[in-house]
Amino acid sequence: MNKIKYCFASLLFLFAATVVAQDGEKEEKEPGHYNQSKFKQLYEEFSTPNTYRSASGAPGPDYYQQQADYKMDIELDDKNSRLYGEETITYTNNSPDDLEFLWVQLDQNVRAKDSKSPLRNGGGVPIASQAGGFVQTYMTEPFDGGFNIDYVRDANGRPLSYTVNQTMMRINIPQPLRSKEQISFSIKWNYNIPDHTVNRARSGFEYFPKDGNKAYVIAQFFPRMAVYSDVEGWQNHQFWGSGEFALPFGDYEVNITVPADHILDGTGELQNRKEVFSKEMMKRYEQAKKSYDKPVLIVTQEEAEAAEKGFSEKKQTWRLKAKNVRDFGFASSRKFIWDMQAVKLGSRDVMAVSMYPKEGNPLWEELSTKAVVGTLKSYSEHTFDYPYHKAISVHAKNQGMEYPMICWNYGRPNEDGTYSDRVKYGMISVIIHEIGHNFFPMIVNSDERQWGWMDEGLDTFMQYIAEQEFGEANPEVIAPNNKYPSRRGEPSKIVPYMSGDQSTIAPIMSNPENVYKLGPNAYGKPATALNILRETVMGKELFDHAFKTYANRWKFKHPTPEDFFRTMEDASAVDLDWYWRGWFYTTDYVDIGVKGVKKYYVSNKPTKQMEEYMAARNLTEADFPPLVYLAEEDSEDFDPELKGKSPSESSTTLKEYMMDNMTAEERAEVKEPKYFYEVTFDKPGGIPMPLIVEYTYADGSKENVTYPPEIWRKNDAEVKRIISSEKELVGILVDPKAETADIDPANNSWPKKDEKSDFDSFKNNIKGK
Ligand SMILES: [Zn+2]
Repeated sequence: MNKIKYCFASLLFLFAATVVAQDGEKEEKEPGHYNQSKFKQLYEEFSTPNTYRSASGAPGPDYYQQQADYKMDIELDDKNSRLYGEETITYTNNSPDDLEFLWVQLDQNVRAKDSKSPLRNGGGVPIASQAGGFVQTYMTEPFDGGFNIDYVRDANGRPLSYTVNQTMMRINIPQPLRSKEQISFSIKWNYNIPDHTVNRARSGFEYFPKDGNKAYVIAQFFPRMAVYSDVEGWQNHQFWGSGEFALPFGDYEVNITVPADHILDGTGELQNRKEVFSKEMMKRYEQAKKSYDKPVLIVTQEEAEAAEKGFSEKKQTWRLKAKNVRDFGFASSRKFIWDMQAVKLGSRDVMAVSMYPKEGNPLWEELSTKAVVGTLKSYSEHTFDYPYHKAISVHAKNQGMEYPMICWNYGRPNEDGTYSDRVKYGMISVIIHEIGHNFFPMIVNSDERQWGWMDEGLDTFMQYIAEQEFGEANPEVIAPNNKYPSRRGEPSKIVPYMSGDQSTIAPIMSNPENVYKLGPNAYGKPATALNILRETVMGKELFDHAFKTYANRWKFKHPTPEDFFRTMEDASAVDLDWYWRGWFYTTDYVDIGVKGVKKYYVSNKPTKQMEEYMAARNLTEADFPPLVYLAEEDSEDFDPELKGKSPSESSTTLKEYMMDNMTAEERAEVKEPKYFYEVTFDKPGGIPMPLIVEYTYADGSKENVTYPPEIWRKNDAEVKRIISSEKELVGILVDPKAETADIDPANNSWPKKDEKSDFDSFKNNIKGK
C-alpha cells in the first residue's frame, strides 16, 4: 500500500472517531497487551467431538450407556447396627466393546480398618477439635467398617473370582462380556453401620441417648456397578471421600426387612403399602394424595413418641421398586414422624414427603415439605418436569446428601423448640439443594467423581433461583418484602474466594479430591459464574432456553463438561469459549476500572500531533479530504474560544462539509455535541467481561451502556472509548449494580473516590503473593 492511500485509509477509518490515527494502533501493538488467547476457541481443551458426543453438545448417533439392574434383599439388625444384603446384579453391556472384567464399587471400604483414606492427608495440630472426632482419632480403635463379602457367584451359583482394591472390586468373569450381551451375578455382604454424627459419613445412624433409639439414613450400602463409558472406559477412580459417585442407570427391586415398629421410606414405589401401613395410615395417605395446599401427617408426633418406647422384636419387610434410577437409598427408624403433600407438575401428581424425629420439630413440620414443594416446582420450570412419583426430605443431624427420590438434611431446633434464622434458612436451603440434586446429578447423570462442579455447581445455581422463587411464593416464611437470604449465587459473595490467596485456589475444572476449598470451588464459583452468565452476559431468555436444552438433552444420560459448554453455545448463538476459559479453566478474577478521562473540543486547526504527522511525510492539509480536529483541553492545541461552541461553529471545514453535502432539513436535524471525552478503561483482572458503564451528566441524567466482552479482544489491558455529548460528563461508574463479581470497586469510578476500601487490602494481598 502506498503512503498516501495508507493515510487516507487510516484517517477515513478514524473520521468517525475524530482522533488522530495512532491511538488505536498503538493499543494493539503494545507488548503484552495483545492477548488474543483469552478469546481463543477451546479446541485444545475440548475432546474432539465424535459419533458418541456431537459437536453441538448433544448425544451423538452412537451414544450408548450401560444398564445395571438390581434385585436385593436387605436386613437391618438394629441392635447391633449391622446391615446384611444379598443382591443380584444384571448388567447389560450396551457398549461396542467386549469387557474382560467388571468393576464394582465398594464405597463402605472407605471406613474399613485398613482404609488408606485417612492416611493421604497431611496437616498439623488444629486450633480446636470436636470432642467426637478427637475421641475417634486418638482414644478409640478405628471403626471396624467396610464390606465383608460372603460370596460372589454367577447365575448358576458357581463362585466367581474377584479382586478387591480398596473401594473397587474387579469381578474376574471367565469369558469376556460381549458387546450387547448381558450377565447376572450375585453378591452376599454385610457391614457395620457407622454413627454418621461422629465420623461425618454420608450415611449411617444417629443414636438418641434419651430414648435409646437410632435413626438410620442408609446409602452407598450395597456393591454398586461402576460406570463404563466412551469417555473414561471404566470409571474406577477410588472413592477417597470427597469425589462423589458415578453410577449407571437401572431398575431396582429392593426388599428391606427392619424391626416391625420402624417407619421406612426410600427410593422407589412401595409395593406392599397395605401390608406395612395401618388402616389409619392408609386413610391419611389417601387424603395426602388430594392435599395440594398443605401436608397431611401419615404418622403423627404422638404416634412416633409412642413407637419410640416399643423396641419390637418382630420384623417387617418393605418392598420398593424403582425404574431408571442411578442409585438407591432409604431411611428407617421408629422415631419418624411422616408427612406428605401432593404437588401438580404439568399433568402429573408428585408426592412431596418429609420424615423427621420429634427433635426436628416444630421446624420440620412447618417447613420441610413446603421447601420440597417449592423445589420441585422451580426446578421443573427451569429444566423438565420431575419424572419420579415422590421426593422425600429426611431430617438427619449435620447431613446434606442426595439420592434418587430421597435425601438427608440438617436443621435442628434447640431442645426447647426455638431456632435461629440461621438454622431456619440453613434448613430450607439444604432441602432445596438436596431435593434439587434429583435433577443434577440423579437424572442429568454427570460423573461426580471426576467433576464435582457438574452436579454441585449446576445444582447450587438452580438452588439460588429456587430460593429466590421460594421467598417470593412464601412471603409468610421469610419476612414480608424481604429477599430470600441466599448464601451463594450473588456475584459479591464469591469475591473473597476469587480474590484470595492464589496458592489455594484451583480452576473449577479440577477433580474434587485435589482442591483446597471444595465449597467455593465446586459450589459457589460455578453457581455464581452461571448466575452472571444468565443475568449479565447472555440474558435470561437465551440462557434459560440453552440451560433447558442441556437438561433435556442429557436427562437420564451421562453428560461431560464439554456437552454442557457446547450446548450452551449451540442453543444460543453466543460465543462463550472466552467465558468458560476465564471462569472454568483459570483462577483469574474480574477487575475492570476506569483509568482516566480527557476532555476535547472541536477545533479548526490541525493539532500538534497532526502537524508532526504531516511534516514527517511531507504532506499538507491539501493532501487529505476535509478534516475535523479534536483539541484536548489540557494541551497546547486548546483554544479557550472553543469552549461552549457547537462543532459546526468551531470548525469551518465541518460547516462547509455540511453545506455541500446535506439538505437544510438534514442540517436542522443534526446533533451538536459540545463535549467530547476520551475515556480509558483498564482491566487489571484476568477475566474479560462485558464493560458495564453508567455515565452521569451535569444535569443529573444518567446513561447506561454495556460494551460486549469482545471489547477486550484486541487489548486485554485497556481500551478507550469516545463519548460525545451536548451535556458535560461529570461521573463514570463501572459495574454500577455490582453484577460481575469485580473484586475491586475502588477503581470503578471517575472522578476517583478517595476512601480506601477493604478490596484494596485484598488486592495488595494478591500482588504480594
Ligand atoms: Zn450438593
